[in-house]
Amino acid sequence: MKVLVINCGSSSLKFQLIDSESEECLAKGICERIGIDGGMITYAPQGGGKEKNPADMPDHTEAIRLVLEALTNPETGVVKSLDEIGAVGHRVVHGGEKFAESVVIDDNVLAAVEECNELAPLHNPANLIGINACKKLMPHTPMVGVFDTAFHQTMPEEAYMYGLPYEYYRKYKVRRYGFHGTSHSYVSKRAAEVLGRPYEELKTIVCHLGNGASVSAVKNGRCVDTSMGLTPLEGLIMGTRSGDIDPAIMEFIAHKEGKNIDQVMTVLNKESGVLGLSDRLSSDFRDLEESYDKNDANAIRAMKTYCYRVAKCVGAYVAAMNGVDVICFTAGIGENAPLVRTLVCGYLGYLGVELDQDANRRRGEDTVITTADSRTTVMVIPTNEELAIARETVRLAGC
Ligand code: AMP
Repeated sequence: MKVLVINCGSSSLKFQLIDSESEECLAKGICERIGIDGGMITYAPQGGGKEKNPADMPDHTEAIRLVLEALTNPETGVVKSLDEIGAVGHRVVHGGEKFAESVVIDDNVLAAVEECNELAPLHNPANLIGINACKKLMPHTPMVGVFDTAFHQTMPEEAYMYGLPYEYYRKYKVRRYGFHGTSHSYVSKRAAEVLGRPYEELKTIVCHLGNGASVSAVKNGRCVDTSMGLTPLEGLIMGTRSGDIDPAIMEFIAHKEGKNIDQVMTVLNKESGVLGLSDRLSSDFRDLEESYDKNDANAIRAMKTYCYRVAKCVGAYVAAMNGVDVICFTAGIGENAPLVRTLVCGYLGYLGVELDQDANRRRGEDTVITTADSRTTVMVIPTNEELAIARETVRLAGC
């Protein structure tokens, strides 16, 4: 059975076709600049070369039509006809309190997702457009929605409530939801599998460090806390996002710089994080690592502040779970930046963490990066959100 996984943004659409038996990715790609001049589709079949072609995509339906055309192309396609695609799995960013699990998409689900739009105005409407475009072109293929927030719905009240008037929760559902749930779930399960330990008995901390970054605490197979909140702005310092700040800074900067609330939000989302901390050197850790090695003060400040914040969050979750067995690093930075892992683990002596520097330099595989004597195990687990979505899709679509 072949599953098409769709991750739809407002002007882009990433896709993978996954064989659910072998769990191999048969083809993947991205449509960029949908609805904007200069559209481009990138398509990479398994074992073949990557093709990048200009394509006019006035809307998402046209983008999906082109994806389906590429997948069935007689020369470079990987399926003979669309009938071979048994189901479609859609990433949906915000499921609010309605979705603690993935679901088969029907009209009621679509209406419920739409109700979550105001909680994720940049993401959810785009996800819905992707679903509707797919439904139009593949009306008889089952579709499954997999929510970034669902895994975190097991958090207890004391972890998800803010110290705000309760009526904001009652009226508007203002609370912490958390994101990257598909990754946190996949990585925490995979760590247990690799270690050969029962998932239900482990205390795991997952550090998903990518462009967006969040940490989660997973106790006995259930998420008990995570660092992102109502929106993906809370928590860690990220590429361009500030993470936690004193909320009064917003008013202070608005007055000093003559900015309105939307402009301040743009600063917090797009001009802060390591980009801001490094005095605009870069939001990319490849650049920061290179400059750090050359003793660049901006890179050192950004790197140290970033890693200190991750380590503090890990400490908080050790407290939340009354201990930890495994700490996992994942996503672009977590998987590829040994310096970040070294700096974070430098704060974890109290957990008896002893890094194995050779293992810490390895890339692209599930690896224990602590020594055999280390009291706490630290691992690198490459995340695979598309595979996790495909598995959920197969489980629910019953194919
Ligand atoms: P993600 O959002 O998971 O795709 O992560 C993207 C981020 O990972 C990039 O912005 C980089 O900061 C970081 N990254 C990717 N590759 C490397 C690398 N080889 N070394 C250091 N950081 C990397």
